[in-house]
Amino acid sequence: MSEKRTYADRAEYIKKAVSARRKRLREMVVEYKGGQCVFCGYSRYVGAFDLHHVDGSQKAFGLSERGVTRSWERIKKEADKCVLVCANCHRELHGGIKQLPREILGRITR
Ligand SMILES: [Zn+2]
Ligand SMILES: [Zn+2]
Repeated sequence: MSEKRTYADRAEYIKKAVSARRKRLREMVVEYKGGQCVFCGYSRYVGAFDLHHVDGSQKAFGLSERGVTRSWERIKKEADKCVLVCANCHRELHGGIKQLPREILGRITR
């Protein structure tokens, strides 16, 4: 019995540690990318940001799932290919309502 409990406690501990690390990494990436949406300048809440890949593949940059296992160096490399956008602008971007300004594309990809 007690063994089971210990295991559950540990699982809970690990879960907490992982989500804390996830949150920290997200904050680091947002800060690294300038801390605001490239479109509207939104900067209030770190959880409302997305990274949008500018290479045209429109592949999502998964901070939430596999991001945990990535090293900070790898995350930075990936983040260099992305622009920081808020969730609203990101949707509009994919919906074709917004386009990335040329100057931003140039700055990021090359
Ligand atoms: Zn995107
Ligand atoms: Zn925005």
